[in-house]
Amino acid sequence: MDLRFTQQELAFQQEVRDFLNASLPEHICAAVRSGAELPRTVLQEWHEILGRKGWLGTTWPKEYGGPGWTPVERYLFDVECNRACAPRIVPFGPSMLGPVIQNFGTREQKDSILPRILSGEDWWAQGYSEPGAGSDLASLKTRAERDGDHYVVNGQKTWTTLGQHANKIFCLVRTKKEGKPQEGISFLMMDIPSQGLEVRPIRLIEGGYEVNEVFLDNVRVPVSNLVGEENKGWTIAKFLLSHERTNIAGVGISMQALEEVKSLARRMIRKGKPLIEDPLFAARIARVEIDLEAMKITNLRMLYQAQKQGHPGPETSILKIKGTQVNQELRDLARRALGPVAAPFPGTITEANLMFGPLNSEANAATYFNNRKTSIFGGSNEIQRNILTKAMLGL
Ligand SMILES: Cc1cc2nc3c(=O)[nH]c(=O)nc-3n(C[C@H](O)[C@H](O)[C@H](O)COP(=O)(O)OP(=O)(O)OC[C@H]3O[C@@H](n4cnc5c(N)ncnc54)[C@H](O)[C@@H]3O)c2cc1C
Repeated sequence: MDLRFTQQELAFQQEVRDFLNASLPEHICAAVRSGAELPRTVLQEWHEILGRKGWLGTTWPKEYGGPGWTPVERYLFDVECNRACAPRIVPFGPSMLGPVIQNFGTREQKDSILPRILSGEDWWAQGYSEPGAGSDLASLKTRAERDGDHYVVNGQKTWTTLGQHANKIFCLVRTKKEGKPQEGISFLMMDIPSQGLEVRPIRLIEGGYEVNEVFLDNVRVPVSNLVGEENKGWTIAKFLLSHERTNIAGVGISMQALEEVKSLARRMIRKGKPLIEDPLFAARIARVEIDLEAMKITNLRMLYQAQKQGHPGPETSILKIKGTQVNQELRDLARRALGPVAAPFPGTITEANLMFGPLNSEANAATYFNNRKTSIFGGSNEIQRNILTKAMLGL
């Protein structure tokens, strides 16, 4: 199989580079490069720039205002955005809800919801997980009971990423208790704020605020906010999860992280020599670089396959596992390269301890801790291994 990009793909790559050179503001790159948590204003500004260009819904077909890209073009776009230090696209509206509405929504839902995602006007959050329902999502307990032309919703969601920025949330809710758990779930959209809906922050280990708990106490939601049929939400839930794992290998992010590690290892001095000359450290860099190269090729093979058959197969689980392992190893190497300089928590860095390390040393420690999440969210790596054993090895 020829893994070189076609002339058309190379031209596309150049088009993306030119666009990023011309349209990605320097203050946004600087914010991304600093490694610190990005404020909503920065994310919003970037969403609006992409929306105006028609490049926000990267998986959307042209008929709904998307660019109609192939999986390989989407891959190239992601790699180039990471190379240019653009913020990642917050996926809940553009990559998750958008395709759901296109496939399962009513005409009214398509007309009212899709343009507002593309313009960046609506910010969506994902209300799937609950304290007792993560990997075993079908055991979710948040109830929605019909009362005339409304549902009354009670329960709790957790781990709601960037819910503090969102003005909308899509939730899986239980609309029937009897029968198989999967057959009593519905997909319901809600406004934030709504009477009875409260978003509470969860502080993460690195001190950041990225995830939330969402409490639902008699929240009244119009029946017109149901997507698809009542009790048929499980099919939609699974469809959305397949989109959640789009470009999950994070090749572009890891390519950037590898450059960062190498640059740190050249600058940090251990026993009078640059760390990159330490044989043990150099061997770890070499091993992860080889893994990353192998993953790039595997990723491309799968993208070409997905392009031919029209959808990705269960082998994307390989990318989820390997991609997160490579990413976590790179973050660990960066932290080790910095040594004690990586220790300060956000806000504790001072002029004095900056003397010992590069400017972004504080953000590196935070990034290392934050990225422990990648092997858990989007379906934990253990669950991905279960998928592979069943779907590919037939065990
Ligand atoms: C930072 C972060 C952000 C998130 N953002 C969102 C969000 O925006 N919206 C949302 O809805 N959810 C979100 N999640 C939730 C995420 O999808 C769940 O954490 C994930 O599905 C795992 O569920 P759990 O945390 O309940 O762990 P559990 O399911 O309790 O698993 C605990 C451990 O047991 C293992 N395990 C469980 N079942 C099996 C099995 N059958 N076989 C082998 N091992 C198993 C797991 O792999 C894991 O190691 C987020 C999570 C994190 C950490």
